[in-house]
Amino acid sequence: MILSQFQSVGRDLFNRGLVSSHSGNLSVRMGENIVITRRGTQLNSLEENDLIETGICKNNRATPLASIELPVHRAIYQQTASQAIVHAHPPHAIALSLTEMEIIPTNEWLPVIGRVPVIGWNMEVGPGGLADIIAQALKEHRIVMVHGHGSFAIGQLLEEAYAFTTALEAGCQVNCLLKSLQPDPSRKTSL
Ligand SMILES: [Zn+2]
Repeated sequence: MILSQFQSVGRDLFNRGLVSSHSGNLSVRMGENIVITRRGTQLNSLEENDLIETGICKNNRATPLASIELPVHRAIYQQTASQAIVHAHPPHAIALSLTEMEIIPTNEWLPVIGRVPVIGWNMEVGPGGLADIIAQALKEHRIVMVHGHGSFAIGQLLEEAYAFTTALEAGCQVNCLLKSLQPDPSRKTSL
């Protein structure tokens, strides 16, 4: 059942600290329509009325209730063959997105998600912004980062997009640990 997939991924994202109480959003493709989480909903306690169905290209009466990131989800479904999307705020990946133009995960994660582009440098980005640029990038990648904001992952199922999100965060956590172990070359040690 579709609700149970949303509930399981939403709860896991929250429990792993990949979204905060009211952040993040999920969607799946349903033919010409999209089922997406409600605007401002809590992913850790989703119920049937938190799932909003609207058109991929057309609005309906439910459209205003959909997540504020609806324009990004729509653009991704219009421009790729993906069946599901997970948008999260993984903290280590966000930290690296503030310093890197591209995130290169460690060897363990590289075959899973590849190199991850960071989109939106030097741009004013509001909710739903960068929709076309994100969708274009997801033609070549399974997951992308928006500079200082969060990740967008695609998959055939929500579970798959969720797995790419956890892989990115796990890889970024290792990268952050490695950076913290490397000595700062600007700091001279006195002997
Ligand atoms: Zn976000």
